[in-house]
Amino acid sequence: MNMTGCLKCGDEKAVLQKSGFKKTKAGSFQRFLCTSCGKHFTGQERHRRHTAAEQQRALMEHEEGLSMRAAARLAGVHLRSVQRWIEKKQQILSRPTTTMPTPKKRAIPLKTP
Ligand SMILES: [Zn+2]
Repeated sequence: MNMTGCLKCGDEKAVLQKSGFKKTKAGSFQRFLCTSCGKHFTGQERHRRHTAAEQQRALMEHEEGLSMRAAARLAGVHLRSVQRWIEKKQQILSRPTTTMPTPKKRAIPLKTP
């Protein structure tokens, strides 16, 4: 991959200094320092966070009776993402219905005569 310019400030003539590596679960990525704006970034990372809309849509489609696979396809997300969201949702739903916080046991000082 050819690094041309800075991804942060958009300066195409910015001088990029190699600045160590950023370690993620996906591996190590060369980290760059832009001498123009002074920000660090890596060029190879692919963070694709799903929007709340995508998530909602996938969950809705699934609730409508579609399979996870179909819901994932329609929402344009990965099947694994939908599985994760559904698991998370079921965890929330399976919680006890009493959402009232359990009162902390206070040590009430007994007034002894
Ligand atoms: Zn920059």
